[in-house]
Amino acid sequence: MLSLLEGVLKAVRTGIIVLDAGERIVVWNDWMAQHSRLKETLILGKTFGEVLPDMIDGRTHVAIRSALQNNFASLLSQTLNKAPFPLFANAADAACGMRMQQAVHVMPLEVPTLGRHCMVQITDVSMAVARERKLREMAVELESQTLVDGLTGIANRRRFDLHLEDEFRRAKRNAAPVSLIMIDVDYFKDFNDNYGHQRGDDCLVQIAGALSRVLNRARDLVARYGGEEFTVVLPDTDEDGAMQVAEAMRAEVEALAVEHAYSGVARHVTISLGVSTLVPELSTTTGSLIHAADRALYQAKRAGRNCVAVYLDSKLS
Ligand code: GH3
Ligand code: MG
Ligand code: MG
Repeated sequence: MLSLLEGVLKAVRTGIIVLDAGERIVVWNDWMAQHSRLKETLILGKTFGEVLPDMIDGRTHVAIRSALQNNFASLLSQTLNKAPFPLFANAADAACGMRMQQAVHVMPLEVPTLGRHCMVQITDVSMAVARERKLREMAVELESQTLVDGLTGIANRRRFDLHLEDEFRRAKRNAAPVSLIMIDVDYFKDFNDNYGHQRGDDCLVQIAGALSRVLNRARDLVARYGGEEFTVVLPDTDEDGAMQVAEAMRAEVEALAVEHAYSGVARHVTISLGVSTLVPELSTTTGSLIHAADRALYQAKRAGRNCVAVYLDSKLS
């Protein structure tokens, strides 16, 4: 039976150290010998501090004392100390001093007739840590690739940029017009300040729904441009068509009748809209269309808000 246990101790793929009440090492299994490069025979009978002087009074040592003196078990947190023991996965890592990442359990061990001992169990968690890091990186990467706005569920800025570039290329090939509407909520800061950010967010969700309801062509796209600003891409749509869509959106948001007692223009939430249209030449960039719609939006704000203004194609190049 004893030789069977010895066999198990040799075979396990984790590090096992057992210390007696005087902190003398009585077991240092093969896995420990292999990864620490310290032979069991040279270590047995020495104290923890003699074998691992760098760890004296460290967190592992404190946990060992607490197991021997107070019968406490501990699991040493990964985040505070990832590699307390000088253990290496292979010779190359040992040569450059790169320790394996470790999970360390410290347990009191009641041994009949021999009194209290302490067992330290060390597991190599390098693979799990690397996998976790990879997953976190992938999550960040996925988020940057997403095309949907988290709050409203409509297209986000990235999707808008991609869609507008696509439609611009198509319009250049076909010498067709592209229209853009820039939308900004009126007096929205006052809405937030008086009703709170949560009601503000709910309001943006309702506005996104209202804007989406107005569109029905497959390649039309409404997106959240950022904050309380929205934008609409209307391919194959001239200025008159875009003006009609913009006016329908203005009316649809007004019809939501979301109370806004602090608006300077109405008793409910309203939007201002700027429209620009152009038939892009080969050298025209999407930036010029966006800039024009922005200018038109500014005009709508100056004209009193809750209205549509247009920036004329003839002024664009
Ligand atoms: P104007 O009529 O001139 O557009 O006035 P405004 O108050 O809407 O304009 P301003 O750009 O000064 O304020 C925009 C405000 O919109 C700032 C912030 O309180 C609010 N806002 C922007 N993004 C969000 C958002 O994601 N959620 C909420 N709840 N509020 C937002
Ligand atoms: Mg704004
Ligand atoms: Mg605003």
